[in-house]
Amino acid sequence: SEDDSFQSDDVPKELLDGLLSAEFDKRSCLSRYQSASYHKPSSQKPSSYLISRLRSYEALHKRCGPYTESYNKTLENLKSGHPPESSDCNYLVWISFSGLGNRIVTLASAFLYALLTNRVLLVDPGVDMIDLFCEPFPEVSWFLPSDFPIKKQFDHFDQNSPHCYGRMLKNNSTKSNGLKLPSLAYLHLVHDYDDHDKLFFCNEDQSFLQKVPWLIMKTDNYFIPSLFLIPSFEQELSNLFPKKDTVFHLLGRYLFHPTNPVWGLITRYYHAYLAKADERIGLQIRVFDTVISPFQQVLDQILACTSKENLLPEIDRQKAIIHPGTQMSKAVLITSLSSGYLQKLRDMYWEHPTATGEVISFYQPSHEEFQQTEKHTHNRKAWAEMYLLSLTDVLVTSSWSTFGYVAQGLGGLKSWILDKPENKTVPNPPCRRVMSMEPCFHAPPFYDCKAKRGIDTGSVVPHVRHCEDMSWGLKLV
Ligand code: GDP
Repeated sequence: SEDDSFQSDDVPKELLDGLLSAEFDKRSCLSRYQSASYHKPSSQKPSSYLISRLRSYEALHKRCGPYTESYNKTLENLKSGHPPESSDCNYLVWISFSGLGNRIVTLASAFLYALLTNRVLLVDPGVDMIDLFCEPFPEVSWFLPSDFPIKKQFDHFDQNSPHCYGRMLKNNSTKSNGLKLPSLAYLHLVHDYDDHDKLFFCNEDQSFLQKVPWLIMKTDNYFIPSLFLIPSFEQELSNLFPKKDTVFHLLGRYLFHPTNPVWGLITRYYHAYLAKADERIGLQIRVFDTVISPFQQVLDQILACTSKENLLPEIDRQKAIIHPGTQMSKAVLITSLSSGYLQKLRDMYWEHPTATGEVISFYQPSHEEFQQTEKHTHNRKAWAEMYLLSLTDVLVTSSWSTFGYVAQGLGGLKSWILDKPENKTVPNPPCRRVMSMEPCFHAPPFYDCKAKRGIDTGSVVPHVRHCEDMSWGLKLV
């Protein structure tokens, strides 16, 4: 009934405790309104400060977004090659780069950086971003217009590009000799970045960058944990996120709404295979190196994990039939590029009864065999699968995979992460519960900007720690 969708404080349930703006047309993006009835309600409420900053960001976006008067003016200035004029609209352009999981975690990072620096986030649509995600901000698009002047160069931007901030520092063309401010700087935050690029994470460099009207960013990393170590952002971050391990969860539910075609994939699959089960278990199998992790060994590791942590019942190889007291059903959603795991697990639980009498069913939406980042239907399926995993009750994920991080963060779940095998043996323990639902920053800097020497950035503050699945990575806890 109408009343059910309203909570006591009159914020409709679909707006996720005020996280989402009420100013949207419902039909254009059904997932934005329906996700609340698929996801478990979040136990992590957004702070009222985060809500107010999101609303003021939306106002800024409306005022400065594509083709507004301010946008046109700032763009003219950029094209003219004149020194930058101070403008009330500054921009951060995010370049579409890498696999879909990577893109989702970097987009969340870019958005938070834009929020912290009062910039307008513009998204390079790449080949398929428009098909995958609904517009997150009311009225004015977040996509970078196709006539943006240097758009064609995006694919070639790297550490040697003249606009690259790290390179400017290397050539000393910014600070020491009181040099002119560029209108545009390219931030290379890709995993192969060097010590100069990493100075992005220093206070002093942030105050320089603050004056550059156009920043263009290419990254494949969830760099938010290191933003928490920049002194000038500290207070604001703690106001936005009193609970630090909720950053990706909240920003993810704010930003990433599947388009109607992807929502169709998600909801049809959910109702056909998952909705009726008493419990849903997500199993994300991502094997980066089949030599170090051969098939049988990955399968053994999964079974060792589900058995040790009581996620799936044991099978009984002696008995032909076991009658349960009450017949509980568990649906296991497998995502993997290959189909072998599904077949093995399904056969095992078909050929033998479970010791508890529980009924276990296995489903896998696709098996695409290999990564095909530039293909439309492939990415739609990848997005649908990450989202379906986020709708489960219990999640098992693979080490090092942003695909799994996204599912875990959107779902608000703490997954059981499968340890990365070394020397072709099943690790012991096979899996462990993560400390927080946050993604891991895989390539953080290890530098103390003030002391100008290397440090362990994983032991500076209690809420930024090394990750469970990557000893040198950083995550918020
Ligand atoms: P990561 O490499 O695991 O960090 O995740 P990414 O999402 O960034 O890149 C992996 C890409 O491979 C995905 O975006 C998909 O294109 C593809 N992929 C990997 N695992 C799966 C899967 O289980 N299902 C589907 N449909 N695609 C997958």
